[in-house]
This record gives sequence, structure tokens and C-alpha cells, in this order.
Amino acid sequence: MIQADFHTHTAFSSDSTELPENIIEQAIHLGLDTICITDHYDHLFPEQYKERFTFDLDAYFQKLFDCRERYRGKIRVLCGAELGLRDEPDVLSDCVSFYKELAVQYPFDFFIGSVHILEHTDPYYPEYWQSHEISDGMTAYFDALLTGVKHYNMFHVLGHLDYLVRYFPDHTNDYQYSKYTDQIDEILKLLIEQGRGIELNTAGYKYGLPYPHPRPEILARYRELGGEILTIGSDGHTTNHLAYNFSGARELLLSLGYRYYTVYENQKPEFKNL
Ligand SMILES: [Zn+2]
Ligand SMILES: [Zn+2]
Repeated sequence: MIQADFHTHTAFSSDSTELPENIIEQAIHLGLDTICITDHYDHLFPEQYKERFTFDLDAYFQKLFDCRERYRGKIRVLCGAELGLRDEPDVLSDCVSFYKELAVQYPFDFFIGSVHILEHTDPYYPEYWQSHEISDGMTAYFDALLTGVKHYNMFHVLGHLDYLVRYFPDHTNDYQYSKYTDQIDEILKLLIEQGRGIELNTAGYKYGLPYPHPRPEILARYRELGGEILTIGSDGHTTNHLAYNFSGARELLLSLGYRYYTVYENQKPEFKNL
């Protein structure tokens, strides 16, 4: 059984209103033994959007450390963050040094690195797709991931590797791995070489896709290339999405030959039986 959700959001994220206590109590209720809170930190999120996707770091640690003590013996509460990786030349080095400093200054257990912005635009919104074909958007996205893996060395797993499929304008909600094999393989190989990994993000199921992020062919390829580090997260922003379809994720991973998943404490990986 998967007993750790390593991608969860609370009211410290601009797109969630859930109290950390509610998320943690639901995790206990579901029988998890570990929960890692990974609120959004998107340094230099473009100013045209009203959300900032940053939080007060001192308040975050105060709250999560309080929760750690309060729920000790019931569940292990870990402090993570989902860092927004930017690849645009005018913000790249500022973001890299900011996150490097953050990783040194604060006692984080774990970082997800995710790309949420392309060319200063959030592809979540339909405006992005008015000026981009699906294949151009995907190519730009995988390019941004590769740049992220090359430049940001503080994160442990790359977040929701193919999540852009959720926001395709024609609602086909699908793409072919074979069309982007070279780009995706380069990303996976580099992560493996660097001793880092990817996550299995079950929000794909929540969005009505028949698969998680990334899709099964990529999970199979990652393993074939020697990938071992794989965290599992629901990307839940509310209690009802916590550990979303972890049973489906477990079945899929076992069918692909996986036997372990990964958790991080103090930025050190531990491997758990699936
Ligand atoms: Zn994300
Ligand atoms: Zn997330």
C-alpha cells in the first residue's frame, strides 16, 4: 500500500483554502503514515496574474512544525515545497539563486520542481493556446523542463511531467509520447544521472484522464532507463483529493515492474515497498 502523499497543497498556496490540519487529519483517516506538504512557491510569478503563488516562509515552518508535534505518533509530517521553475533568460538566473538560497536558509525535507509558466504566460489559461498549436506548446514545455533540470539543482523530483495535456484547448486530453520521445528521454536520462527522479502525480485521473502524470509509457521508459526515484503525490488542494486513486497508481506501477516508491526526509531518499 502507498502510505505517503508527497504532493499536497494547503491554504499557503494561492489556489487552496484548506487548512494544513484538515489535510493532515484526512491523511491519518486514510491510513497514511507520512504526509509531505508541498505548497506552491513560484518566485517571480508573472505580474499580470492576481495570484502570487508564494508564501510567508517563517509562518509556513511555524505552522508545519506545530503540526509535526501535534500529530507526532499518528503521522509523520514533512515540509516540502513545489518550486516553480522558470526558463526565460530574463528570470532564469534570479530564480536559480533565489531557490538555492531558500534551500539553504530553511529546513525543507523535499522539493518538487515544476514548470507552470511558458514565455511569461500561464498555459492553464486559454489565452496561451490562442497563439500556440498543441505540438508547439508541448515542445516548448519539454524544452522548459530540460532547462529546469539542467539549471536547478535543489529539487528532488520533477513535478507532473506531462500535465500540460490537461489544458489542451480542444479537450482531446491526449498526446503521443512517440512524438516527443527524444525530448522526454533526455530529461529522464539527465535526472537519473543526477540522482534525482520524477513523481507519479495522480491528478491526471482527477482531470478525467485514463492515466496519471506521466503517462504509463513514460513510467515504463523511466524504469527501463534505470530510474529508481519515484515519489507519489495526489496534488490535492482539498481533503477529498488527498491520496486520490493511490490504489490505481499502485496497480499501474506493479504492472510496470516497480516494487518501491520513494519518500524524502531531510532531503534524503528512503525506499518503501509498494
Ligand atoms: Zn504544479
Ligand atoms: Zn501541485
